[in-house]
Amino acid sequence: MRHTLYLKFILGYVIFGLFSLLTVSLFVPNITRDYLITQKAQDLYSEASLIADTYGQGLYSSRTSFETVTLQLDALSVYMNSDIRIISPDGLIILDTAKSGSDGDSSVKMITNFDPSVSGRSYYLTGDFFGSFDEEVLSVICPIISEYRTKGYVSIHISMDEIDSECESLLNISYITLIIIFLLSLIILIFFTRIVYIPLRKITKGAEKYAEGNYHYEVNVESSDEMGYLAAALNYMSGKIADAEDDQKKFIANVSHDFRSPLTSIKGYLEAMLDGTIPAEMHEKYLGIVLNETERLTKLTNGLLSLNNLNTKGMHLDMTDFDINDMVRKVAETFEGTCRKKSIAIELVLMGDELLVHADKEKIEQIVYNLTDNAIKFSHNDSVIRIETAEKKNKIYVSVKDNGIGIPPEDIGLIFNRFYKSDSSRGKDKKGTGLGLSIVKEILTAHSENINVISTPGEGSEFIFSLQPVNVDEV
Ligand code: ADP
Repeated sequence: MRHTLYLKFILGYVIFGLFSLLTVSLFVPNITRDYLITQKAQDLYSEASLIADTYGQGLYSSRTSFETVTLQLDALSVYMNSDIRIISPDGLIILDTAKSGSDGDSSVKMITNFDPSVSGRSYYLTGDFFGSFDEEVLSVICPIISEYRTKGYVSIHISMDEIDSECESLLNISYITLIIIFLLSLIILIFFTRIVYIPLRKITKGAEKYAEGNYHYEVNVESSDEMGYLAAALNYMSGKIADAEDDQKKFIANVSHDFRSPLTSIKGYLEAMLDGTIPAEMHEKYLGIVLNETERLTKLTNGLLSLNNLNTKGMHLDMTDFDINDMVRKVAETFEGTCRKKSIAIELVLMGDELLVHADKEKIEQIVYNLTDNAIKFSHNDSVIRIETAEKKNKIYVSVKDNGIGIPPEDIGLIFNRFYKSDSSRGKDKKGTGLGLSIVKEILTAHSENINVISTPGEGSEFIFSLQPVNVDEV
């Protein structure tokens, strides 16, 4: 199963080779032989008709002597490696260059069943020429016409062996060409193996590793073609999955830790109250601490739930028109108690009395709440937090600025990631979940709006997000 593609290609290559070989060996010999016979016959016929018009007519009109004609035709037959005959219409061989040779035996021979019209429309015939040859020959016959009468025929014969051996030489060339093509196409197979098959195997192996859960496995394909791009995309994807997995692990560790510590203290205080270690008059104080811890648990659970809800595909937004100034005021009021404890003042710089925006009111309230909560958490005692609303270029901007601990530059890009808590903030904010800003980001993304951070460690941070004013939507 794993090597199917490669096997298919090898099989395709072998089939291609066999098929080519079969085609060449089945069809090419016949085609070549027929072609050679026709070509040869054509040449012989031209020669025969030339002889008929010159020596043939000369002989019959007694202009040329028999000896001269014999001599000339002998020389010609040697030159053409053929047998030339002059035959009378009734089949009597008057001259035969094969017989007039060395022994001078020019004995007259009769061809029985001589029929020059037997070749029909084609001007040549193959075979033993009416039984006058012991082997197969290619023969052409051309009439000698004098005074409008056929006086005899000139026939030229060459051995079919000669044609066959010529045919064989040509076929050998075809086979050699075929082998060269076959070997050249082997180069394609080698290229295919290097360019497609090996990278594909590496990619498949990578995919298997990912399926096993090993997202840190790297697919090592260096090429700059589609294969390289696919491998790079896979590496990128697995990197992202690995990061998400790491985040998840970090999150579970954080959540477990954050759940365990309040639960341990709740359990400890309640047990101490029950067994009397904490006297009854101190119960109120410790119940207050227990309540505080349960609030922390509730916050954590709520954060998880809202992130989960926001995450479910196609976040539903209940878009309405509302006054953002009013919302900011109300959120600031809810933090009065906390601010008093840390002597933090919230300064509101709101544009106009009323600033209408078009958004999901409940979700925007959560954003303002989370940002203000963070600003207070990470502010020093006796400092000022400034919440500002403004309208610029058909956008409403809300800014929450504190004079707190600030965010290190290397953390700025990470704080919107889920579960991310910067190390510097850990000591200051034990209750943090690392979910607040990711909830903010998700809500704004669903609104197609943005959030920016300007922060200097030790000096403070400013979070600015945009909203859509009411009039833009109505246009
Ligand atoms: P958390 O529940 O920890 O506040 P957030 O997602 O709201 O989670 O914030 C993530 C991290 O971003 C915080 O742990 C903190 O390190 C940093 N951060 C957020 N807001 C501020 C801020 N106003 N000042 C300094 N650091 C901040």
